[in-house]
Amino acid sequence: MGSQKPSVLGRESRMATWRNWAGNQIAHPQSIESPRNVTELAAVVADASSRGQKVKAVGSGHSFTSAAATDGRMIRLDHLSGISHVDRAKNQVTVGAGTRLSDLNPLLHAEGLALANLGDIAYQTVAGAISTSTHGTGKALTGLAGQVVAMTLVNGHGEIVECSESSNADILDVGRVSVGALGVISEYTLQAVPSFRLRALEQPMRLDDVLESAHELAAAHDHFEFFWIPHTKWALTKRNNRTDDELQPLPKVKGWIEKTFMENYAFGALCRVGRARPSLIPRLATALPSSGSREYVDQSFKIFASPRIVRFYEMEHALPVEAVAPALREIRAMVERKGYLLNFPVEVRFTKGDDVALSTAYGRESAYIAVHVYKGMECEPFFRDVEDILRGYDARPHWGKVHYREAEELSALYPRWNDFIALRNRLDPLRTFSNAYTDTVFGK
Ligand SMILES: Cc1cc2nc3c(=O)[nH]c(=O)nc-3n(C[C@H](O)[C@H](O)[C@H](O)COP(=O)(O)OP(=O)(O)OC[C@H]3O[C@@H](n4cnc5c(N)ncnc54)[C@H](O)[C@@H]3O)c2cc1C
Repeated sequence: MGSQKPSVLGRESRMATWRNWAGNQIAHPQSIESPRNVTELAAVVADASSRGQKVKAVGSGHSFTSAAATDGRMIRLDHLSGISHVDRAKNQVTVGAGTRLSDLNPLLHAEGLALANLGDIAYQTVAGAISTSTHGTGKALTGLAGQVVAMTLVNGHGEIVECSESSNADILDVGRVSVGALGVISEYTLQAVPSFRLRALEQPMRLDDVLESAHELAAAHDHFEFFWIPHTKWALTKRNNRTDDELQPLPKVKGWIEKTFMENYAFGALCRVGRARPSLIPRLATALPSSGSREYVDQSFKIFASPRIVRFYEMEHALPVEAVAPALREIRAMVERKGYLLNFPVEVRFTKGDDVALSTAYGRESAYIAVHVYKGMECEPFFRDVEDILRGYDARPHWGKVHYREAEELSALYPRWNDFIALRNRLDPLRTFSNAYTDTVFGK
């Protein structure tokens, strides 16, 4: 990630430059610090707050918003990583908040466990993913924050606070998705499940047919999603279902060609041509996967997450599930009317509703519509037009993806908003954990 370099001794030079994965957020933190344990972490926060400095924990910088940016003290939790405890009776694991999902998944697998659902990459840290309401797809499953059973955080007073059902339950209840605004989380206990295999079936369908039967498809498969390829009538559907069948992974070379080469290098080349000559985009779109299908069986975490080498900007909103077809039809009509040239698929996923106060799926079964623009191409007019349409469907923006909403509008979308703000006032009255993003989305 840019020039972030953690210091083993805990503190790094002044005015480092930090960039997020997409390269659309740049910050110059006064220091980048890597505490070795929660006691050191608490000391950093107490020191910063006594000096009126800002503190911001950063994960792997995979948010498209400035959620993790700071010109204050940036905290990296590389040392707070790995599994520290497994409760075999409950299938629960305690993990360092800085653990990358790509490290956690094989560690869990070695314990015979897995997370029930994941997003489509595994580069994020556990804390970063949970804090922005990161989710995958699966009508009967929540996002990652719904799998948190306990967490430890350092609040704005520099105190270490353990939160579980039996201690500080109110913080756990309201604060699982917090965009870093309540404190620095050092550890989570997560509900896992016995490790499992998935049979993946990837198959193109006509978009109109998918929209007609989206609810049935989502209900019929453990993990259903689809990608509409703009400028075509086609959508690529992905159905992942639990299976006890033997592993049948994509053969190594074929897998590399299809997953890494075709979905990244070849796709990246098409995107570059499209960026240089946008008028070719509709013709290039026909080269995207809209014919042929493939089927394979692998461990769940290997199927959920794929490599992402092509960089882009993304906006994603959660809608009440019944709104997905009309909303997508409206977006398609708008794209045609305005003549936008889009060289990235539009992704649609589904999750169960949950009880996490600032989860994008709070209190309602949700469908997610995500739009992408290749890095270096203008995204704002298109994203704003999409957002305007989705506003009409009561849509909630992903905290880690581009959006243009502010506190007043967001507050009306979350029934427990005031509980979150009250908790923030209690845990961080001096706003040690604030940055420009939290000022915008939560207020000062
Ligand atoms: C290629 C790509 C694919 C993606 N796929 C998906 C997907 O499938 N589903 C989905 O929902 N999202 C997806 N995302 C979005 C991504 O999951 C979120 O933006 C996530 O927050 C990134 O995690 P991170 O570790 O990079 O956190 P960062 O982006 O570094 O930080 C995110 C937020 O978490 C806070 N934070 C980090 N660590 C801590 C801590 N220890 N204590 C308190 N706060 C902390 C930060 O301050 C910040 O506010 C994707 C993003 C990219 C770039």
